[in-house]
Amino acid sequence: MPEAPLTFAQIAGQDSAVAVLRRSLADGGDSGSFLFTGPQGCGKTTTAWALAAAVSCLAPSTDPYDACTQCDACKRLSRGVNPEVSLVQPAGDQTQIWQFWDREGKPRGILQHALPYSPSIGRKRVFIVERADTLTEGAANSLLKVLEEPPPYVMFILLAPHAGRVLPTILSRCRLVRFGAMPVADLARWLVDRHAVATERASTLAALAQGCVGTALSLASSKTAYSEIGVCTDAGMALLSASGLGVLRCAEGLRQAAKGLKFLGDDPAAAVGAAVAEADNTKERAGRRQMGAALDLVAVVARDALALCLVGPGASIVNEERRSGIMAMADRRLPQEWIAAIDQIAVARRRVDMNANPAILTDALAVTLAASAQR
Ligand SMILES: [Zn+2]
Repeated sequence: MPEAPLTFAQIAGQDSAVAVLRRSLADGGDSGSFLFTGPQGCGKTTTAWALAAAVSCLAPSTDPYDACTQCDACKRLSRGVNPEVSLVQPAGDQTQIWQFWDREGKPRGILQHALPYSPSIGRKRVFIVERADTLTEGAANSLLKVLEEPPPYVMFILLAPHAGRVLPTILSRCRLVRFGAMPVADLARWLVDRHAVATERASTLAALAQGCVGTALSLASSKTAYSEIGVCTDAGMALLSASGLGVLRCAEGLRQAAKGLKFLGDDPAAAVGAAVAEADNTKERAGRRQMGAALDLVAVVARDALALCLVGPGASIVNEERRSGIMAMADRRLPQEWIAAIDQIAVARRRVDMNANPAILTDALAVTLAASAQR
């Protein structure tokens, strides 16, 4: 349930998506089914809540269209006690049929008991399906009819990272609204202006979040994330500079630093680049997420070094606070050697997802990286 923005006016960096929605509402398109697509952490869920607020609001402003924030429906929504707006999240890895319709042993289907009744608090019932890409085939098929012709008092808002990951039968029944990441520089400025994040830190967080507002905000609001990232970045710098006997020690250093990535490792939604997005909390999977996030951070260092190597000291980089240290190591490789190093890290990163042993994988990466740095 959101404590956060109930209104379109408060949404950062999604001007075109918000304009599409406002236009649709102003034209009377306040029911039916929407599909929002865009990278994880870019603002789809927040915008879905704002849309839900706008359509359930009893006294919306219409120019531009937005929730009033003051009526009973709005107030209940912001307190998380408006039962007419529902969020459906995956149960484990998948979003299942029993979450929508009663099934034997699981008689709590959310549509079963709400869909037949028109709303009494606000103007609409809204169902937000947070990961439409995780719908099982059975669940998706069970929704086709209601997505195509929902009751006039119902809106469905489906969210997915990419339209290509949604079943075509679902896709064809929804109005598609695309979300994108913000330009990194704009996001950094927004973090400074609206959330009082220090300038250098804001640049780093915006770049690590790849322009995704939600990811940047959760990184910025965590007490530990920035220092965890720093420890791992330092370990990555050591690994990329290592030679001789120091190589394996640096690989061990990176493994230890990865274990310290509590924030990135614990919360899949906060994973840098949202490369990892699975709702699984087993220890082994958590270790894998941490190692994946650590290698993402090593890759960021290598890309910074490549930029400095190619462009010189004025290059724009992610790790602003470590500029001089990365500058010092940038000249140890030629540009094509940095590109090879980035490739080697990407290969290791994929192997993490393919269940490779993390110790062997990091040792092998360290040796390969050292062998490719001849200077
Ligand atoms: Zn209202």
